Amino acid sequence: MQTENVLRADVWDIAIALYKTSQASAEEANGFERHLSSFLTHELVGDQFTIGVENEFAAEFYNSKFAEPLRVSLVKAGAPENVKVRFEVTEDAVKAAAEKKRLEKEHLAQSEAAATVSRATFNSTMPFNKEYTFENFVRGPSNSFAYAIASAVAREPGGHTNNPFFIWGGSGLGKTHLMQAIGHHVMMHDPSKSVCYITSETFLNEYINALSVKAMESFRQRYRHIDLLLLDDVQFMGAKEQVQEEFFNTYDGLMTYGKQIVMTCDVPPKKLSGFEERLITRFQQGIAINITAPSYETRVAILKSKARNIKLEIPETAFKYIAENIKSSVRAMEGALNLVIQFMTANPGMDISQYMDNLLKELTEEEVNIRRLSIEDIIKAVCATYDVTYADMLSRNKTQPLATARQVAMFLACKLTGNSFPTIGAAVDRNHTTAMYGTRSIQKRLDVEPDLKKTLEKITESLGRKPSELLD
Ligand code: ADP
Ligand code: MG
Repeated sequence: MQTENVLRADVWDIAIALYKTSQASAEEANGFERHLSSFLTHELVGDQFTIGVENEFAAEFYNSKFAEPLRVSLVKAGAPENVKVRFEVTEDAVKAAAEKKRLEKEHLAQSEAAATVSRATFNSTMPFNKEYTFENFVRGPSNSFAYAIASAVAREPGGHTNNPFFIWGGSGLGKTHLMQAIGHHVMMHDPSKSVCYITSETFLNEYINALSVKAMESFRQRYRHIDLLLLDDVQFMGAKEQVQEEFFNTYDGLMTYGKQIVMTCDVPPKKLSGFEERLITRFQQGIAINITAPSYETRVAILKSKARNIKLEIPETAFKYIAENIKSSVRAMEGALNLVIQFMTANPGMDISQYMDNLLKELTEEEVNIRRLSIEDIIKAVCATYDVTYADMLSRNKTQPLATARQVAMFLACKLTGNSFPTIGAAVDRNHTTAMYGTRSIQKRLDVEPDLKKTLEKITESLGRKPSELLD
């Protein structure tokens, strides 16, 4: 019996192999291969070779199509000359079919579960802040353009025009908030989309861990299956060549498949230092938008919006005090608001207005420090507005708009930093006479060129300073 079994298995396998090679084309051989999975059992009893199938229809069909050619192959493979081949519905075949279906179902459930898990872990490579939604984002002139593009991206991630979407600006101005708002919107409207929020620092750490445990392939796989990648604070990848190389591949892979990439950064793409040129070029292919410090009105609106779920009645004067004294960071404003809330909770009935100075002393001092601008900060802001490079500013090139940009930088440095003309001149590789002349020239033009005035006011606000400071 034992030997017969072994022989039987061999003969069948060889017969199938022979049959396949006897086919005229690979296509026909493949066609046969597909039917093979329906041949559930086979058995040689005496000279009767029976192939078990699931139903009568299959038995009939296979008997007419394969019984004879398979008999020939079986004989060639060593079966008795007088062997007879029949397809039949047998009890064993029916059982085998049921078992096969059960396994298929189980497998499907497992792979579905695996897909859900990987999506879930992916959605939250880093957790989202549930407050960072579009509804909770207050719009104003400093961020309305960024907001508009963000909502367009959220409605149609992976569109052609806004990909990548690069949001840049100072710290605490709402970049992360806006970026996560896109993520929230996409996850809510299309749960099948996999959304990944990650800071470039964490991306770097994950990459390093993957190197040390040789888990690079799974690291890559995970980033390959994202529909929306939100990479926060991309500047931290500067001067880290290896991770940039890795990110470059991830980036290109996602872009090729029309996936959406959103990045935030403290500077515009072309000002990124320590980045490969090919990455910078790619970052510039979509749209880059600057978020600047909010205006007074927006600051008050943000404060009120943050306080709307708080049961305390915060007096108008408190909102105004914060908005007047803290301008360069919404995060710092929130800190001030929290101090006010803590104070009011601990001292019910007390008039907060009298205590504002003391309460917020540290924060406002910090603010003054922040406002101690360097000439370099001013030059950078002017470069961004006039679309010229820092090196251009130091060059001998006198063409427009570069010449104006250089004079604007000197004028702003004079008004906002209080540095001397020799120092200001030196910052753009010029002498003190040039600095003085440049400053005066802009001063005169301001009276007759309202557009220039507006531009300067905008730059001043973006640096967290008041336009009125330009007057005196
Ligand atoms: P960034 O990433 O630019 O450093 P964040 O997005 O972390 O800044 O914002 C800092 C804080 O300020 C967050 O709590 C955020 O909700 C809040 N914030 C910033 N801008 C706005 C805005 N326009 N409306 C409401 N909240 C804002
Ligand atoms: Mg941030």
